[in-house]
Amino acid sequence: APRVGVLALQGDVREHAVALHDGGADVVKVRRPSELDDLDGLVIPGGESTAIDKLARAFGMMDPLREKIAQGFPVYGSCAGMILLADRVADPACDGAGRPQQTFGGIDMTVRRNAFGRQVDSFETEVPMPILAGVQGHSSANEPESVRAVFIRAPWVESVGAGVQILASVNEPHHDESATEAEVARIVAVRSGNLLATSFHPEVTGERRIHRLFIQMIRGEA
Ligand code: GLN
Repeated sequence: APRVGVLALQGDVREHAVALHDGGADVVKVRRPSELDDLDGLVIPGGESTAIDKLARAFGMMDPLREKIAQGFPVYGSCAGMILLADRVADPACDGAGRPQQTFGGIDMTVRRNAFGRQVDSFETEVPMPILAGVQGHSSANEPESVRAVFIRAPWVESVGAGVQILASVNEPHHDESATEAEVARIVAVRSGNLLATSFHPEVTGERRIHRLFIQMIRGEA
């Protein structure tokens, strides 16, 4: 079985570990650079991208992980993890000294943090994701080509470079009932080479196909 790490600095590490285990991976929690050795892939969980960034720098993880990503190491990032895989953040948070948050990068895209609104604007919806039709394990709760997606202070992808494949988009929900503008489709899942990212949290709904897709990518089967 592939050995897949979960970056365990902050965020919903346990949920990703369970989803990967269910998908057939040997799961390892990763905090230190040496723990990146011998891994076949890594998941960056949801949580708070600024906290994961700060801790990654404190633990000396930033540069080793950037290097591995540049060499083709497979990584899946969910929510905060998506932000950390983006080459550019549209509205970066700044620390006390005015320095913007950093990312590992790797996906040629610009993300916008908290783009769907605040915690109270969190929502759950069915998102069409045709690539999942080829991944086994959809429950009766799911259509084979869509995913039940939970968005919690989620980012969206504002723009992508030529090498980035768009896997899913969602119409931006209106929180203001008086809003009359046409709904805008926002990109919420992408793949670029061995990197996969979703704005939403498949790990909290019992959905396992996204993690299975990632494991297929690691095996070179997707
Ligand atoms: N808003 C968070 C951030 O900017 C992401 C939220 C999440 O991962 N659920 O990092």
